[in-house]
Amino acid sequence: MQQKTESKMDISVIVPLYNEEESIGELYDWIQRVMRENAFTYEVIFVNDGSTDRSWQVIEELQKAHPEVHGIKFRRNYGKSPALFCGFEMAQGDVVITMDADLQDSPDEIPELRRMIVEDGYDLVSGWKMNRSQGDPLSKTIPTKLFNATARTVSGIHNLHDFNCGLKAYRRDVVKNIEVYGEMHRYIPYLAKNAGFSRIGEKRVHHQARKHGKSKFMGWNRFVNGYLDLLSLWFLDSFGLKPMHVFGFIGTLMFLLGFLATVGVGAMKLYCLAKGVPARLVTDSPYFYIALTMMILGTQLFVAGFLGELISRNSPERNKYQIEKTI
Ligand code: UDP
Ligand code: MG
Repeated sequence: MQQKTESKMDISVIVPLYNEEESIGELYDWIQRVMRENAFTYEVIFVNDGSTDRSWQVIEELQKAHPEVHGIKFRRNYGKSPALFCGFEMAQGDVVITMDADLQDSPDEIPELRRMIVEDGYDLVSGWKMNRSQGDPLSKTIPTKLFNATARTVSGIHNLHDFNCGLKAYRRDVVKNIEVYGEMHRYIPYLAKNAGFSRIGEKRVHHQARKHGKSKFMGWNRFVNGYLDLLSLWFLDSFGLKPMHVFGFIGTLMFLLGFLATVGVGAMKLYCLAKGVPARLVTDSPYFYIALTMMILGTQLFVAGFLGELISRNSPERNKYQIEKTI
């Protein structure tokens, strides 16, 4: 069993995988070779995300032969983010490396990634798949470019070209202080930045075509979901702790505009009546409808703000801050 003592370990490699039985053995051999050449102490954590093939048996066999291998087996398929989350919880190394199981990411990059964390002082170094494998169709590369441009703008991390690269390196503190969930693995740099880890770097990495099996992320809906996730993160970061500030503000603004329009409509009617000018019906004025909608929407937004406050007051996260040190 694992000991709780302050074990000095250089590197933890976390590999989330879903039906990758053909690749696991080869990947481990490669990682082991790199670690030995550089005399690193290490562990490899395979997180089996509900594979229906022989992946878990392969991991068990590896574990028997190599004490550096650990495995986590999900009862069903949850997704890459939950797999990474559990791997992060278990990791003990000073530097944590994540890589895909499909042999698209090269373990040869590990020493340099580690050096950038340890010597250059980065909190997180993300891979940048320069020579995107020829295997990827245009329908995947073009949306990816768009996706990265948006992610850069929204997150304010302008130096990253490839948010979604599976090959990343982290200082241990980072992975212990962020919570990856849902499909947020695409935005780990953003999560890290929100948690206060701002030294984020990038390294160009080699990227091969998938050798075995097929991609687990296909179709356009991942981009729609990706954008929605980005929006959620941006909202949580900006207003998560103070929802009233956004809803209350817009709500008040709309209500006031609506109210002004109402006063305008009423005043016009009274004026016409007083002067004896033939006045048109209030309901014939477009301002009447604008006023009505704005006041209703304004009130609703305001209420949404209050509800948001009530929810955030009860949220277990409400007083969770990133404290770097207490002395
Ligand atoms: N993966 C996972 N759970 C899933 C889907 C994917 O653990 O539900 C793993 C997969 O086995 C691989 C990594 O996440 O190790 C990246 O997936 P994939 O190579 O299919 O993505 P792509 O490279 O095509 O973007
Ligand atoms: Mg892949």
